[in-house]
Amino acid sequence: MGLSLRTAALLILFPAAATNLVAADLEAGVAKTTITPDVTANKVYMAGFGNNRVATGVHDDLWVRCLALATGRDKLALCDVDLIGLFYDDVLKVRAQVKAERPDVTVIVASAHDHEGPDTMGLWGPAPLQSGIDPAYMDTLDNRIATTALMAVALLKRARLVLGRDDHPLLALLQDDSRPPYVKDPHLFVMRLTDLHGAAMATLVNWSDHPETLDSKNTLITADFPHWLREYVEQHDGGTALFFNGSIGGLLSTLGDQVALLDPDTGEVARDATWRKAELFGDTVGDLAVRAVDVNAGARIEAPVDSILIRQKVIFAPIENDGFRVGGALGVFRGRKGLWTDGRPDPTIEQRDLPQFGGKVPYATGHDLQTEVDYIQFRGGGRLLAEIATVPGEIYPELVNGGITRYPGADYPDAPFEPTLRAGMHSPYPMVFGLANDELGYIIPKCEWDSKPPWLLNRKSRWYGEVNSAGPEVAGAVTRSLRELMEGQ
Ligand SMILES: [Zn+2]
Repeated sequence: MGLSLRTAALLILFPAAATNLVAADLEAGVAKTTITPDVTANKVYMAGFGNNRVATGVHDDLWVRCLALATGRDKLALCDVDLIGLFYDDVLKVRAQVKAERPDVTVIVASAHDHEGPDTMGLWGPAPLQSGIDPAYMDTLDNRIATTALMAVALLKRARLVLGRDDHPLLALLQDDSRPPYVKDPHLFVMRLTDLHGAAMATLVNWSDHPETLDSKNTLITADFPHWLREYVEQHDGGTALFFNGSIGGLLSTLGDQVALLDPDTGEVARDATWRKAELFGDTVGDLAVRAVDVNAGARIEAPVDSILIRQKVIFAPIENDGFRVGGALGVFRGRKGLWTDGRPDPTIEQRDLPQFGGKVPYATGHDLQTEVDYIQFRGGGRLLAEIATVPGEIYPELVNGGITRYPGADYPDAPFEPTLRAGMHSPYPMVFGLANDELGYIIPKCEWDSKPPWLLNRKSRWYGEVNSAGPEVAGAVTRSLRELMEGQ
């Protein structure tokens, strides 16, 4: 397909792109609600691995947890959900419900990318191209996220923020990276909120890894390692813990022999697909998170936040994935993920003969996916204290930290490098929230894109990644738009 940057450059400034630089006292509120599907009432297809994995029970509850933060007029609700991913359509529904009651609140919804929960994207139903989405569950879910955000805002009260980070070598060892370049994102960031008397309110942890420790055979619903991470943090620091996943493309995984956690009870390495490994994993990252905001931690600061600046941009990312086009036309996404052309919805569907789908199939022909990127600054006393960049998918860490690499076999060997996200972030706490407000799949540097042989580095078979990516132009659309927001454009 001919590549066009025409629509990728069509950037619309969101009407809510508010700028609040009026100094005011920081307020915080936190709320949480379970979103565990009822596995006895309906068939619940579990997301993340193969088709037709039906849930047989619940090990631990799934949650939506929202942290509201405000300085004066503008208010932010950061919500994390224990799900594989949510599309922009659902986030817009959540926002409409919140805005009806609280037009001053900007909501961000990020998925943990849980591989042991329900299918909220449609890709893991009874068979390929048969949706695993339960529309009734999705309606309940959207409503629960919205009401939880509103609850957190209703609980806003004066608060103090402590920021911490850790770059412990262990954090990189907990990320199995299965595709070159072997760039990881080990950086752990923590935001801890207390009330003015020092009582714990909330601890937000931002780190990068696929929650899939229980692997592909498990049929009990669980939040995977974030469940134990949050429990550990709550037991040690009090308050409510939240987990926001980061840059997990490439793909950074908890599975595999590289990720070796020693079980102190047995003296042996905890195995993949065991509850013990997920527990040890959550406890280990939880311990580093607690230490990062400990009074003795070197990278800890008490941050006197007096303004929160929120910039949002709606963008259009060209789609090149035939599977997504056919899936959309067949209703796999249950009406979500509609395509756009020249900035307008484009519902056109044609019949196409595609051998990889067994012959004639319906095919959505629109040019782009509509999505959004956000950039948030926390400022105090005229200083930039911390930042959050939201990314609508699973971004390859080399796009965040640098290290994009040209390899023989690439489909676009001369493609220019996309801008590195953290090179545009200038605070000591440059947080990246992945799968935020959307899930476009993998976000891959164009010069590493490889959907045609020969394969990168002359490998005998295709590398994993492109099949779950919207296309080679997404990385450029996302990173350039974020860098523009960072530069105030
Ligand atoms: Zn993934």
